[in-house]
This record gives sequence, C-alpha cells and structure tokens, in this order.
Amino acid sequence: MSKQVVFYPGALEERDGKLVQMGHKCKDCGKTSYPAVELCPFCSSENVERVPLSTTGTVFSYSITRVPVGPFKPPIIGGYIDLPEGTRVFGQIHAKAEEMKTGMKVKVRTGVIWTEKDGTEVIGYHYVPCETGSGGA
Ligand SMILES: [Zn+2]
Repeated sequence: MSKQVVFYPGALEERDGKLVQMGHKCKDCGKTSYPAVELCPFCSSENVERVPLSTTGTVFSYSITRVPVGPFKPPIIGGYIDLPEGTRVFGQIHAKAEEMKTGMKVKVRTGVIWTEKDGTEVIGYHYVPCETGSGGA
C-alpha cells in the first residue's frame, strides 16, 4: 500500500470512516475559519475548537486556468466557496468550464489529488457541482 499524506497538516480528519475538512470555530465570536489556525482570525481569541466544516456550499467566485499548474492539467477551475457557517474556502472545482457560474451549489469530495514521484499519495479535497448528472464517486 502506498504512503498517503494530507496536503496540509490537520486540514482533513477521519470521522466515521470519511475524511472531512476541519476548521476552527471561535467560542468567543462564533466565527469559523479554515484551515484551522491557533488564533481566531476575526477577534484573535485563542478560545477555538476544531469542528468539521459543512460539505456543501455556494460558489462565490471562480477563475479558470488554461495552462498546466504543477500536477494539475487544464482547464483548472479554482474558486471561493461560501459555506453555510460563513466560512469562505478556496478549492478546485471539478466541473465543465461552460457549466460554471457564481451562486451554483457545490459539494466537497476528498481523495488523492496528486501522486509524488516516490509514489506518495497526497490527500486533499475539491468540489463538484451538486446537480451533476454524471454520477461520480
Ligand atoms: Zn473569534
């Protein structure tokens, strides 16, 4: 079995056999941030707890890159996703460029996002449209 690492330490955590994105919820101001950080970025409180993030959100904005970037092949769609708890998350969106629009609903997927030359699989997340008819994992 190949070695697996999470793309950013602590960003994903296994819960009930599934990988979920983990953020920090501030117990003082109530806001949630991602990725998890030691201090609340809104009020600088250290009174934060790790919480799983919502798995669906709304595309706030996006851009499409039409050249290869690192291990990713174009077109690469990167976007900001607004989650119901008020957190804005950046991620890739796996969708057809022509079906992208701001305000569309997306859901998170976790899994291997690239494989290093030594075979190490890097685990991360991306988003897919909620109302896709193409099935998928
Ligand atoms: Zn706070």
